[in-house]
Amino acid sequence: MSERDEALKRIKEEIIALDASPLYAERIKHKYFPVIGEGSHTAEVMFIGEAPGENEAKTGRPFCGRAGKVLDLLLASVGIERKDVYVTNIVKDRPPGNRDPFPDEITVYAPFLDRQIEIIKPKVVATLGRFSMQYVMSRYGLEWELDSISKLHGKAFDAKDFKFVPLYHPAAAIYNQQLLDTLKEDFKVLKTLV
Ligand code: URA
Repeated sequence: MSERDEALKRIKEEIIALDASPLYAERIKHKYFPVIGEGSHTAEVMFIGEAPGENEAKTGRPFCGRAGKVLDLLLASVGIERKDVYVTNIVKDRPPGNRDPFPDEITVYAPFLDRQIEIIKPKVVATLGRFSMQYVMSRYGLEWELDSISKLHGKAFDAKDFKFVPLYHPAAAIYNQQLLDTLKEDFKVLKTLV
């Protein structure tokens, strides 16, 4: 096992044991899994969503439900294979009823995301939705550029160690063809950066 694999495995073990999380009791009650992240440990592109939905919490796999189908379609539209990227979320356990994550939940899980970025060292970090956009921009020196996702989506920013591209959340495109078209355009930006 490579050093990266081992470091990522440690993150997984720590999250599994994270009984200090406000979402831990829900995980145990519903026999859910935490969703750590999935994909290539040497990925050039890392996608960061919001939090697991029900399908994800039942399987432990990120973006495996309806939003995941949209993500797969978007990746295919620019010829990027899902196995070549890394997909994770800012919050690693399912918030009840798919509500938005609370700030204290983001605070608990964000250090794990920071370590995943540090270990995998992606060239491009692409956030899916406004929660991960706001976190990454504030954490990685782009706080002065922060604005609404409708203004920032599809733009490429230079963070210290990676290019950063905020994207709409694929779930928002499930019943919205116009947003799906926008996402497809924005995915072309990713392709120019790798
Ligand atoms: N939505 C997310 O933000 N993440 C997932 O893993 C699934 C749906």
